[in-house]
Amino acid sequence: MLTKTTENTFDEISVFFNRAAERLGLDEGVRELLRRPWRELKVAVPVRMDDGRIEVFEGYRIQHNGVRGPYKGGVRYHPSADQEEVKALASLMTWKNALVDVPFGGAKGGVKCDPTALSEGELNRLTRRYTINIEHFLGVNRDIPAPDLGTNAQVMAWMMDAYSQIHGLTPAIVTGKPVELGGSVGRDSATGRGATYVIRAIARDLGISLLGARVAVQGFGQVGSWTARLLWEEGYNVIAVSDVHGGVYRAGGLDIGELTRHVEETGGMAGFGAAEPVSNAELLELECDFLIPAAIDRVITEANAPRVQARVVVEAANHPLTPDADAILHQRGVPILPDILTNAGGVIVSYFEWVQNLYQHHWVKERVDQELLGTMTAAYENVSGLASSEDISLREAAFTIGVERVARVARIRGFL
Ligand code: GLU
Repeated sequence: MLTKTTENTFDEISVFFNRAAERLGLDEGVRELLRRPWRELKVAVPVRMDDGRIEVFEGYRIQHNGVRGPYKGGVRYHPSADQEEVKALASLMTWKNALVDVPFGGAKGGVKCDPTALSEGELNRLTRRYTINIEHFLGVNRDIPAPDLGTNAQVMAWMMDAYSQIHGLTPAIVTGKPVELGGSVGRDSATGRGATYVIRAIARDLGISLLGARVAVQGFGQVGSWTARLLWEEGYNVIAVSDVHGGVYRAGGLDIGELTRHVEETGGMAGFGAAEPVSNAELLELECDFLIPAAIDRVITEANAPRVQARVVVEAANHPLTPDADAILHQRGVPILPDILTNAGGVIVSYFEWVQNLYQHHWVKERVDQELLGTMTAAYENVSGLASSEDISLREAAFTIGVERVARVARIRGFL
């Protein structure tokens, strides 16, 4: 696992929130209403392990803000998924959902565990127990989980099944499900695809030629692997990719199709011919056009930000840059496509999946991709328009739009 330096993610995201609140002239009471999570649930998750022992894990579901609709956000299984981190990520979901204008509030869940060390049976039992313990918090019109770091469509299938054992078959209770169970086509690639749309838009604005543009991607999970693959298919020069154990680099470009096969066959990137090994730390400092952290949070800090040599940083992961790193890169004139815009494709297609489930209907892939393109492009145009008219960073613009929308609806609903 990649490691982090400090543990105050919620305060860091509050820095970005406070800046937007200041710009919008919100008074302290309103800020407090919007900053604080509305509900935090912490549960014990006892699991019978394969060797017969009982191990008790800790799980969370945090509903940050429900002004704009049912709470929505993923569930992560990761050793660092503690209450502070889940709270921070729940707040990011509030601003993300408002920015891309899907009718949801923000939430996040997590279980503090290392999913790579658990058997399939243990993961199934852990997921069922976690779901049953948070079930009263969930609802098709109340709170709808989805995958995040360390979880996937299979975990969502188990969640849906556990919930349905109590409530009757309820596909719309989670998104990111297998297509056979009512998942949306295109949901697995949606976050990566959405990232490619905003990369294309900013490249156009900055006059960066796409063909041959050099890309480095940190992370080869659901988000990183799709981002690398789609960019490679479009003719970008993907010079480096990595997973938790390290990565590979080739100045002339990697064949992502071949690399994917190698990873599937051998379980990792090591030994991939015609490429040099590169560490996760080195990858972040490569000279390239687009640096795409697509793994975990807080990988670019004040320690390495001065050495980042990318023309644009693309936050496909949630919160990969600390506010210090953000400030250093902003000062150096390096544009950052912020997480709440860049990786919103996942929750956008989650919204499409939820709608399809409610109507008991399936969209074709072309429709999903087309609507995703429309939603991502509109959000990008809003953000870049505000950033240039106010002369602020893309992140400040994105937070300002998201926070303003939530504050406005809070007023209309009569909370303020
Ligand atoms: N976990 C994803 C995110 O951070 C998707 C959430 C969802 O689809 O609800 O945006």
